[in-house]
Amino acid sequence: MFTFLGTSAGEQYPGVWCDCQNCHGARHLGGVNRRRNSCAILADHTLIDFGPAIPIQLDERGFSLLKVDTLLVTHSHQDHFFPWYLRWRYYPRGIANPPEGHEMGPVFTKPLPLTIYGNSRVRELTWDAIKGDPQNHHLDFVLLRPWESVVTRHLVCTPIKANHDPREECFNFILEYQGKTILYATDTAAFLPQTKEFLTDYRFDLVVMEGTLGFNQKYDASVSGHSNFHLNRETREWMLSSNMLAEKAPFVITHTGPHFAPPHEECAPLLAKWQLTLAHDGMTVHLQKQV
Ligand SMILES: [Zn+2]
Ligand SMILES: [Zn+2]
Repeated sequence: MFTFLGTSAGEQYPGVWCDCQNCHGARHLGGVNRRRNSCAILADHTLIDFGPAIPIQLDERGFSLLKVDTLLVTHSHQDHFFPWYLRWRYYPRGIANPPEGHEMGPVFTKPLPLTIYGNSRVRELTWDAIKGDPQNHHLDFVLLRPWESVVTRHLVCTPIKANHDPREECFNFILEYQGKTILYATDTAAFLPQTKEFLTDYRFDLVVMEGTLGFNQKYDASVSGHSNFHLNRETREWMLSSNMLAEKAPFVITHTGPHFAPPHEECAPLLAKWQLTLAHDGMTVHLQKQV
């Protein structure tokens, strides 16, 4: 099962400092109309991204960091990676139980080993948070390179180049899990030519793509950054025509910003007309082989 723990863009929905009509509406309506930062969990063990509200997002949906042993990080932007929580994994070897005389951490139970996968910026930030001591934080780090698959405890992850922030190597992920293939594409603008070519070798059972810029017509697809709903629609059509997707395969939009898309209950039916499913926080997809 694939669960969306968060489906907003950086500022969240309602925007943290905004009371425009959409933000006001989402605040007032509550429920699925409120979104937190984008992240998702596969089964209960593989987390994709790790934003500032991650423990709350997990708790609210009946998950727990205690069971997560694999963390895939798309890029280092703070709405996707908030490494401060990692410091609380500190559990030095050979301490008394319960531990004494430690100001931060150690946790009172030894954490499950965690493997983090990400780019070099994510590694730097991880190292800062854990003061360069992965051993006593019971984690290891695997540096991802574009197009090179890694085998995690549960799945095969192939990082592909996102079209997002040229200051770092941002990734989207192809995940192969129990015979199903998932594309998780946030954050990205229109796929780069190299990425498009690479993707055509796959057939997807679930596509997740970001739609930060909603219905904004002024969107310039030649600039790196984010996608809008029109680009989501074109991408789905391209994938259908390139035999990468079955007509019925779910094509799900996440990372939605508040300023070019109405609140979820109003927006989802508009996207459904284009065969796009608008994700909401807590939405689950039962992975099925699409033929
Ligand atoms: Zn983002
Ligand atoms: Zn970003």
